[in-house]
Amino acid sequence: MSKKLTVLCASAHPDDIELQCAGTLIRYVNEGHKVFMAVACTGNVGSKQHTGPEIEAIRAEEAKRGAEVIGAELIHMDYKDADIWLDHAHWTRYVDLVRQTNPDVILTHDRDDYVHDHSNVGELVYRAAIWASTANIPECKLPPIDHIPTVFYFETVGTNRVAPPDHYVDISEEFDQKLHAFSQHVSQHGDFLEKQYGVKDWNDYMSTVNKLRGFQCGCKYAEAFRVVQTWPNHRAYRLLPPVQFGSR
Ligand SMILES: [Zn+2]
Repeated sequence: MSKKLTVLCASAHPDDIELQCAGTLIRYVNEGHKVFMAVACTGNVGSKQHTGPEIEAIRAEEAKRGAEVIGAELIHMDYKDADIWLDHAHWTRYVDLVRQTNPDVILTHDRDDYVHDHSNVGELVYRAAIWASTANIPECKLPPIDHIPTVFYFETVGTNRVAPPDHYVDISEEFDQKLHAFSQHVSQHGDFLEKQYGVKDWNDYMSTVNKLRGFQCGCKYAEAFRVVQTWPNHRAYRLLPPVQFGSR
């Protein structure tokens, strides 16, 4: 891709992005594109041993380190966990997020995700993307942008409940850096994720999913996406980094 893009990745919680699409973001950064990571929630319920204020301070620092490994600019939206709802106030906040970052591409949670923070962030940012270029929304603080960004959904954890992907990104060379980015979320390993979900080895999860997606598209490791079908969302150039068959 010769055109330099701006990418907005909008997630619900600290570590969602590292788990699901960090390889693609690392590729964008390495190819000279600008990447924003907007994390909606503080992660205040993400521990069974720390208080809410303690764990959200820990997770803010972990998110900062994860974004540094990826090379992205981090934006905290500072909502509490489980407080992402489809209402006007949240929607206008996401319209202003799209205006603030002015992205060509938005990566976010699938609207069919099974966690309501996830699905609602996906729905909010997708609904905001269309309106970010319109004028005269009274509650918005920032001026309109001049285009409608294209939205892609990344995978759900476990790849459940969603339709098959239609876009793949080869992350074979970025896979180790993706694991390193996820490993910054130390508080989640051996504590919340294991106690809450019973999963001890998240590197095994990423390896399994990204190998499967790589097998499907002809490379070692890949991340998979679904484009949100809108009109118009065609461009004269590819918006995701390419799969390079046989080249890696
Ligand atoms: Zn999450």
